[in-house]
Amino acid sequence: RVKEKWAATRAKYPPTTLALQHFDAAYGIQLGHLWPSVRAALLCERKYGALVNNFSDDDVLSDLQDQGCRDFISDTDLEVHLEQISAVGVEGESSDLSTKTSDISHQQLSPLQISRNIKCLVFPRGDITRFKPAKPDKFGLLGYYLMDAASVLPCLALDVQEGHNVLDLCAAPGGKTLTLLQTQCLGFLCVNDSSISRTLRLKRVLHSYTPKPFLSGDNLRITSFDGTKWGEIERDTFDRVLVDVPCTTDRHSLVEDDNNIFSRSRTGERRRLPQLQLELLLAGIEATHPGGEILYSTCTLSQTQNQSVVEQAIHLAQENHSIHLQVVDLKPLTHMFRKTFHFAPNLHLGEMVIPHLAANFGPIYMCKLKRLT
Ligand code: SAM
Repeated sequence: RVKEKWAATRAKYPPTTLALQHFDAAYGIQLGHLWPSVRAALLCERKYGALVNNFSDDDVLSDLQDQGCRDFISDTDLEVHLEQISAVGVEGESSDLSTKTSDISHQQLSPLQISRNIKCLVFPRGDITRFKPAKPDKFGLLGYYLMDAASVLPCLALDVQEGHNVLDLCAAPGGKTLTLLQTQCLGFLCVNDSSISRTLRLKRVLHSYTPKPFLSGDNLRITSFDGTKWGEIERDTFDRVLVDVPCTTDRHSLVEDDNNIFSRSRTGERRRLPQLQLELLLAGIEATHPGGEILYSTCTLSQTQNQSVVEQAIHLAQENHSIHLQVVDLKPLTHMFRKTFHFAPNLHLGEMVIPHLAANFGPIYMCKLKRLT
């Protein structure tokens, strides 16, 4: 019998198996009794949402509704809104979160500020129907963009307002950029990603969804800089900054061996992720003007890449740059969308959508900061 050549060099465990072993060890402790259910969901097919493209001529909304989908953003319980309005009535009122993290101040997000122009359709809980690929309208623009519906939440939480200057620091392939553009209220949008190939992909996405004059106008800038160096280019500039950092992309790392962040050859890169995430978040904080807001997000469950990064950034911004930050409480937002997503209970900082078999979205972690000085 001839031994196949690759047998000697083939890794004992493929990266997807290494990822699962790593998650079992880390998330078993972090999530406790929730982990088996989250684990099962992560190992099953994910669910998508269809972000409606307002630039398209086709009426995809009613078409998708006819197929049994609902817009999860407009379809929230009325009494939930009312509860929230009374909850945010008193400015600075202490919340569950603020009593737990005594050294970090919190402010609540008013649910009424959520953009009504963003529409994302999902099939009902437990329904695992797949969306058909979007079709081009008569101008060649696609009617909807398929993405993890939970990825829309950081954009909603960012709360962009009319005329805002917005920076999307790590933007490719562009799902969140496209979501922000749907608000049609931005003054100026700066879209950046350090990877040239991924920036090209982002440009292709934008060309498939937005009219040409829109992309060539003065209101949009696309760059490929190292986001950690943004402070050397621009400081104290933006009203809103989205910092959607590279992470261990937990769901992807469990299904795809190719170029997996858990492969032995990428161990160093994986270990350096929290430092890169911290530098990106600090750069995003510096790019925001005092009074502006920053949204940090990842698609990992990892506490080391989520809460720990935010905690260190708050500390270092104050120590090294005299920038004071306040954590904005996103509880009203999670409360509003509890029909659609499962959120991790009792996070001491930020909010996280955790995968569930009946609503297999996420993981998405998000934490919002307001720059005070
Ligand atoms: N926001 C994107 C979306 O919604 O489609 C996903 C962003 S992805 C999670 C993280 C991105 O960060 C990758 O496209 C990667 O190329 C980019 N990235 C990695 N290091 C970076 C850096 N130093 N500066 C800017 N972007 C970086």
